Amino acid sequence: MEEKLTEISTLGEFGLIDHVTKGFELKNESTVKGVGDDCAVMHYPDTEVLVSTDLLLEGIHFDLTYVPLKHLGYKAVAVNLSDIYAMNGTPRQITVSLGISKRFAVEHIEQLYSGIRLACEIYGIDLVGGDTTSSRQGLVISITAIGDAPKEKIATRSGAHPNDLICVSGDLGAAYMGLQLLEREKVASAGQIDFTPDFAGKEYLIERQLKPEPRRDIVQNLDKAGIIPTSMIDISDGLSSELLHICGKSHVGCRIYEDRIPIDYQTAVMAEELGMNLVTAALNGGEDYELLFTVPLHLHEQVESIPGIKIIGHVTEEKLGCAMITRDGNEMQLRAQGFNHLGKNEE
Ligand code: ADP
Ligand code: MG
Repeated sequence: MEEKLTEISTLGEFGLIDHVTKGFELKNESTVKGVGDDCAVMHYPDTEVLVSTDLLLEGIHFDLTYVPLKHLGYKAVAVNLSDIYAMNGTPRQITVSLGISKRFAVEHIEQLYSGIRLACEIYGIDLVGGDTTSSRQGLVISITAIGDAPKEKIATRSGAHPNDLICVSGDLGAAYMGLQLLEREKVASAGQIDFTPDFAGKEYLIERQLKPEPRRDIVQNLDKAGIIPTSMIDISDGLSSELLHICGKSHVGCRIYEDRIPIDYQTAVMAEELGMNLVTAALNGGEDYELLFTVPLHLHEQVESIPGIKIIGHVTEEKLGCAMITRDGNEMQLRAQGFNHLGKNEE
């Protein structure tokens, strides 16, 4: 691996924090004080404040044999921002907490923070604090995102009504296929020193797995069109599972159409190669970080004219349950499988 690594003990905890956070600039009006005191200070007059946290454990949520640390930092921020966007809000600040085992050197933490910094720059986020400890084994990352949204624009999971249209951004299943590809190359490369993985023609899948982008653009375009979703959620565990969350919280049912589920060409090719059911991957694949939302029926044309949004079905009365109409016209009950049941070793 790298040469001349610097042991973290040469900087110490405080030195390390200083070192990796010094390149961050504060960008938001609501950030009064960032890193360097007992607390960060934020000022949010006349608005609702949104807070979301994620905890990521090495070996459970990420595998450093194929995830570069820079990508890990970027993704860890991205998935938190996705939660704020999923409320129809704007993320403003993050805190980053780390558990670091002896295996990691200063340079590794630098790489991690270069990804964190890139995400902060692209999405206009301030890093305002965190905590740093040692861990017995592996890397632990916890990120908290803070943001705002005017009260009347917040989109929860519980506001869907019968006859609302069900919409999804982007395409589904690609991140899961990217994971399958990375896992396959990991097995193929085991024990080989100069192994070159073959991702030709599959770059999109790898990118979707390693560098997901939260859909700020969709939230902004909905706002420009004057559309407030009646409900919204981001797709982290798979379309099926997220739809059931919305329907459960909103006390409604749904019908989605198999032939309307957006799937990229590379995802289809990869599913074929692996002998997997493509629609199952799109329904349960997870880690897409697309937005799933509902809008009133009369907004049909407005929502359809926004690029990257697809109407995949409609909301029904609760008693009709949640189902997908297959290509041959049958009804298939939606189940919350989640991508862990597709073979990922998550518990
Ligand atoms: P305390 O002892 O009060 O917990 P720390 O010494 O842990 O304070 O932290 C000092 C400052 O550095 C605080 O502003 C804290 O938010 C920030 N900080 C600590 N760890 C991190 C980190 N991993 N990333 C960003 N900021 C951090
Ligand atoms: Mg601390």
